[in-house]
Amino acid sequence: MVPAPDPPPPVAEPAPRRASIHSANSSDSADAVVVALESLGSSGAEPPPNDPTETLVQWMAKIELLNPEHRRAVTAGCALQWFARPWRIREQCYHYSFQTRQIHDFWSHSWRTSVWQKAGLLLIWYNGVAAFLISTLGVFLVLVLACLGLTPAYSKQPWLGPPLTIGPWCSLTGPLLYSLAFTLWRSRRRVWLDWICIHQTDMKLQECGLLSLGGNIGNAKSMLILWDETWIERLWCIFELATFLRSHPDATKNLIILPIFFWPFCVANFWVGFAVGLGNVVLPFNHPLSFVSGTLGMLLVVFVLEKLMHEFYCSLALLEERLRKFSLNDAKCACCDNDHKGPYGQEVRCDRHVLIQVMCLWFGSEAEIESHISTIVADALREKLLGKFPLPYWMMVMCQMPVLWAYMDIFAARARDEQWEEAAAVVLDCCSWFLNLIPAISTFVTCLVRWTHSTASCRQTLFRWMSRLAAILMHVAGQLGVRVCHHYIENYLHGKAVFFGISLLPAFVAWRLRSKSA
Ligand SMILES: [Zn+2]
Repeated sequence: MVPAPDPPPPVAEPAPRRASIHSANSSDSADAVVVALESLGSSGAEPPPNDPTETLVQWMAKIELLNPEHRRAVTAGCALQWFARPWRIREQCYHYSFQTRQIHDFWSHSWRTSVWQKAGLLLIWYNGVAAFLISTLGVFLVLVLACLGLTPAYSKQPWLGPPLTIGPWCSLTGPLLYSLAFTLWRSRRRVWLDWICIHQTDMKLQECGLLSLGGNIGNAKSMLILWDETWIERLWCIFELATFLRSHPDATKNLIILPIFFWPFCVANFWVGFAVGLGNVVLPFNHPLSFVSGTLGMLLVVFVLEKLMHEFYCSLALLEERLRKFSLNDAKCACCDNDHKGPYGQEVRCDRHVLIQVMCLWFGSEAEIESHISTIVADALREKLLGKFPLPYWMMVMCQMPVLWAYMDIFAARARDEQWEEAAAVVLDCCSWFLNLIPAISTFVTCLVRWTHSTASCRQTLFRWMSRLAAILMHVAGQLGVRVCHHYIENYLHGKAVFFGISLLPAFVAWRLRSKSA
């Protein structure tokens, strides 16, 4: 945001920027900008020697740092500690940032979106793999102990085969370790976040931070956009992306767009998987709930997925519409939203003029900026959002790890009793559901929403119920399939092998659908 005048109010919508290494040599220019800043902050009794706004515009168009000490970053772990507490409660946290030579990720986001949502997604992005590895390691240790009979267990009669001596230790250890690592892991990646890397109360530091925004964007390896439908409405977000495209020849490659809609799907999938998996381990196999829990769980996940995907595709359609009619005059700016009044009622200068002037220097005229936004920017966004299947396979698999952990308990029970053929059958059954059928059902639901989201609302309702029904039928068909295989094939292991072979067919179709979307 452009430097505010006399009193020092916190910025309403600070924006992130990147710095370039060579900016240390531009001290003359930096001095001129500081003079211009002081002129802007003066009472106006003495006119500045040159037009300070023009000096600012010229400076920002250079995409440089005011001073190397303003190339700042915070570790992702620090920014996200306690579910991004510093960010959520808007406490002064400039002291968490530090001078750095390299910024890994520049976070671009709209302040209109809930910090909870952004923090949830960022925790999955930065801590998901660490949580996966730590929990997997822990669960494997528990598996070994369980196989050796060193964990408490109870007897349970399965619907096929001899009784089991089983305990829910993998099912419980996995989510516990995963949750701990997910919450407490501190990623060392250096990121730029406006709230932390720009001082919110010291006006001098705030102005320096804002003037070094371009330099910080130019220095970041990648830009991570926390995308929702308000993002494209914000002038500062557009400016950040324009700066990134301007300063990076390979910008598209290093642009990461994370739609914030997906984290509820991951959370729902994970905990439904946990409930169903634990139910299968703890409940007697002939308990009615153990048969329907999987189908009910799948139905719940389908509901969540379908709703999120619908929102996602509708917002993409809205994005295309907005980009087609894109006008700089429609882009919103916090200063204009607040009628150019600071938190204490003081006047605040408008950012709009400076930002548009800077972009005019890069692209020509306002019409050309709009044209660039609706072509280059839109192409980048379309390639990242529309050109890809929204839910990657690895994400679907990672979200349902509790299903795998429950299978590990069953495997341990078979291994403990030295029922090796049954143990091998558990592995095949796990691969059929965990790797093939459950991701396939999620893929089919996503595709169905994609094909039908633009139809009339009455037809949408029909399609939605059809997709729910189809998901339930697929799940029930899978469960019946296991039993049919065992009915016709006497050997337990062979029955599971045939079922695994059958499950490859929907998995293949789902893979084709995902790769066709890419
Ligand atoms: Zn304004």
